[in-house]
Amino acid sequence: MDVLFRRCVFVSARLAVSRAVCRPALLAAPLGARRTKKTWPVNFSQEDLKKRLTPMQYHVTQEQGTESAFTGEFTHHKDEGSYVCVVCGAVLFSSNTKFDSGSGWPSFHDLLKEDSVTLTDDFSYGMHRVETTCSQCGAHLGHLFDDGPKPTGKRYCINSASLGFQPKDAASSSSPASSTSSSAVEGGAAGGSVSEGKTEL
Ligand SMILES: [Zn+2]
Repeated sequence: MDVLFRRCVFVSARLAVSRAVCRPALLAAPLGARRTKKTWPVNFSQEDLKKRLTPMQYHVTQEQGTESAFTGEFTHHKDEGSYVCVVCGAVLFSSNTKFDSGSGWPSFHDLLKEDSVTLTDDFSYGMHRVETTCSQCGAHLGHLFDDGPKPTGKRYCINSASLGFQPKDAASSSSPASSTSSSAVEGGAAGGSVSEGKTEL
């Protein structure tokens, strides 16, 4: 790939010939690189987020982190209601589409609104996954896989730390950011030793 790329640039520079393989797309995303910062409809200062999010919520949503499997508060949460983005409050998932995937992370087979989540190719850790991001504020949520149950066949594998919950019957719930998470422990554990076999998220 690299060789092809260089030769491609070389050839096109010399001959000024536009060849199909020379599309700028080759330059777009080096493997493993963090994607360039996109502009989202809703923005928060990093200072503000550090104040109101737990360290794990911040790590997951702003640094594309992953909480350890089976540690999130919503993994086995079965109440009826809506799951919202912990950063901006956008409604993302309904409890009606939540299912037990056995992965250790909250899993949903569909979105509440189709455009509420943005999908992006993620080539980190030497594999190709589809990252799910809040379309409003760009918070990292988790990843999307194609091994979910019918009818969609999709599995949105989402960190609890990215989510807040609005119970069905509550007129207004407390701020999702106020929920306490006791799992700050794994903030440092994301660094590699843990995750060899745990790539589901
Ligand atoms: Zn959001």
